[in-house]
Amino acid sequence: MKPIALGDFTIRKFVESTGNMGVPAGVFSGLGGERLKTLCEAMDPRCGDPASALFYISMHSFVLQTGSRTILIDTCNGNGKRRTGVMAGMNMLNHDYLGNLAQLGLKPEDIDVVLCTHLHSDHVGWNTRLENGAWVPTFANARYLMSEIDVEVYGSLPPEHPQYPLTRESFEDSVLPVLASGQAELIRTGHVVEHEVGNGVWLEGCPGHTPGNMVIHAQSGPGRHAVFTGDVFHHPVQIQDTILNLNVDADPEAGLATRRRFVETYADTGTILLAAHFPDPTAGCVVTDRAGPAFRFLDPLE
Ligand SMILES: [Zn+2]
Repeated sequence: MKPIALGDFTIRKFVESTGNMGVPAGVFSGLGGERLKTLCEAMDPRCGDPASALFYISMHSFVLQTGSRTILIDTCNGNGKRRTGVMAGMNMLNHDYLGNLAQLGLKPEDIDVVLCTHLHSDHVGWNTRLENGAWVPTFANARYLMSEIDVEVYGSLPPEHPQYPLTRESFEDSVLPVLASGQAELIRTGHVVEHEVGNGVWLEGCPGHTPGNMVIHAQSGPGRHAVFTGDVFHHPVQIQDTILNLNVDADPEAGLATRRRFVETYADTGTILLAAHFPDPTAGCVVTDRAGPAFRFLDPLE
């Protein structure tokens, strides 16, 4: 993704690990048959491989610079973290995430605000890193903004709960140390991060994927509007077909309602959507043609 200039704001993306990951189309609510064939025929080749029915996703973070603040949005999986169950593929990773951040000219101490759209394991990992055998906040000067609701819910999940591997292991090593450090700010939705609502950076609660799931809006002055959508959508096909989901929504009905509302609200408005897992070039808009709404990459930005 090329850097995006929005008035006085700049948005850049950096990856945790290079390359896309292919997920079988079947993991999307059992997608198959004619519907899969139709979606694959219409799919941008940057989104997947129709021949092997693989959809591409990516692990990345965004840096939003507002002039006065450097804001890091979602922190991927992290290094050296023990993961099991559905997150076993992210067990004990060793990626040069901070080296990739450095390629943007930024050191960990340059980050003023860390925003986690929700508290799943793949969005909080680099909140902390191992130092002298202890997990400590990676971004020493940052305030970490997290959903108070997600902290309440995921801080007390029993081990037998199906979302335990997705949330509880990372809660221990990537959320609790931040809470203990005093750098966390637990927020309810509608919290204003910068400037007033409607002209800056602000959060919106979008429950469904998690109970406290949030998206982040950015708009500099009267300029173009961007929304960091976290995991409201995991893949661009879900904009064509909002009913598809990855079976990881805490409340599937609310997740579906949120996806539908987003497609209706942002179709043909020019609003830039920045999702946590869309493959490169990641940024894009919802546009409607005869077949209905679909996601179109903006690269370069039109
Ligand atoms: Zn995710």
